[in-house]
Amino acid sequence: MTKMTWDLSEAPESKAHVQIAERYGLFIDGEFRKPQSGMYFDTTNPANGTKLSEVAEAGQADVDAAFEAADKAFAGWSALSGAERGKYIYRIARMMQEKSRELAVLESLDGGKPIRESRDIDVPLAAAHFFYYAGWADKLEYAFPNRTPRPLGVAAQIIPWNFPLLMAAWKIAPALACGNTVVIKPAETTPLTALKLAEIIREAGLPNGVVNIITGAGATGAMMTNHEVPNKLAFTGSTQVGKLIYKAALKGNKKVTLELGGKAANIIFDDAPIDAAVEGIINGIYFNQGHVCCAGSRLFVQETVYDEVIAKLKKRMDNLIVGDPMDKNTDIGAINSQGQLNTIEKYLEIGKEEGAEMYQPDCDIPSEGNWCRPTLFLNVAQSNRIAQEEIFGPVLAVQTFRTIDEVIDKANNTPYGLSAGVWTDKGSKIFQLTKALKAGVVWANTYNKFDPTSPFGGYKESGFGREGGMHGLEAYLTF
Ligand code: ADP
Repeated sequence: MTKMTWDLSEAPESKAHVQIAERYGLFIDGEFRKPQSGMYFDTTNPANGTKLSEVAEAGQADVDAAFEAADKAFAGWSALSGAERGKYIYRIARMMQEKSRELAVLESLDGGKPIRESRDIDVPLAAAHFFYYAGWADKLEYAFPNRTPRPLGVAAQIIPWNFPLLMAAWKIAPALACGNTVVIKPAETTPLTALKLAEIIREAGLPNGVVNIITGAGATGAMMTNHEVPNKLAFTGSTQVGKLIYKAALKGNKKVTLELGGKAANIIFDDAPIDAAVEGIINGIYFNQGHVCCAGSRLFVQETVYDEVIAKLKKRMDNLIVGDPMDKNTDIGAINSQGQLNTIEKYLEIGKEEGAEMYQPDCDIPSEGNWCRPTLFLNVAQSNRIAQEEIFGPVLAVQTFRTIDEVIDKANNTPYGLSAGVWTDKGSKIFQLTKALKAGVVWANTYNKFDPTSPFGGYKESGFGREGGMHGLEAYLTF
């Protein structure tokens, strides 16, 4: 049988309406400032390696200035009524919607994710988080009846590069709703949407110093976590860095929430709607190039439907379009950085050496930039590194099972516990698994669904604390 190919015409999103400055300073106390460190670094487009802009690298004096501004702003901001705080947060949400095309283009240029995803998921969800928490700002007493919710003070927030704007929204919106002030740092490879958000925040007239956005790499992050001013550390990123942040929090007697890595089990029973499950597997692992902490990176297929699932999965993979993130047809964009591509390629070698059978469609990929074809490993053993360690790329490790008890054991046999997926026609199985799986989020007959009302967070080495929903307020309050 000849392979069916889809020859779609190019459908590039326009970049004409987006202005990127040659250089960005640090957003401190309501204004963009040159870094006292005098240092800048490049941010590039991972799809072609071109430089997009230069951003400041905050040094100790800059970090001090940001915390001083946040500290100074706290008294005024926390004294405002919840309704007044809510108005500012609503305004930010509405302005994000107004500038949604610009934000989506920036997100895809700087991070490599397909424009369809930044346009339809990242940006609308980020705005939705601001809307949602704006609504809570004047209802904290109702959220926590018979208690007296009070803000914590200044929050230091550090976010990763996989959902730059969305993670900024997850962190900033609940902190502001609860009356805290913020110093936040985006990841070094994806600073541009956070800096655009800084412009929005300034335009929205938020009082100076309530949100400070500083850029830099791990060294700047370490200065933030070891700083004496913040009362709260909030981190999303690798488990390795999460452990350092936890130590700093213990030492400094600070509150902390950590959202770390994952190695989620996506479980397909033989009574599942197979075609829908195959779509769920694809979405679970190839969404955002697999740069997703809750990605369904371990697939467990019941033996009786193994051949059917794998055949359909391969056929679906053959039709995925890998390439220019700015093209609206693209399914899988660029790998975020050369460093991350090296990590993924290292795991592809490890998988082959461990004896697993690798499958990749022979789709075209651009000659420049960072790319990885969607990848499947069959015949994976539970002890294999590709089944145990987080790869953070478009790489799926497939295993089989016969009974529910067996798959529960296998699914829970991981240091992580962030998310899981279950595909079955039987409600009873769903309830049994959602109780038995040690994962903060379990999706049933769907995957990667996010909503500001739903709490999100992990067990074990995936971290602790919840973001989203009413639970997300608690992380920024004391009683
Ligand atoms: P990833 O492995 O996904 O790149 P990291 O945990 O390295 O994730 O990065 C997530 C965020 O943590 C980034 O903003 C990064 O700059 C920051 N970071 C890296 N190292 C440190 C550190 N030692 N202390 C504080 N923040 C750090």
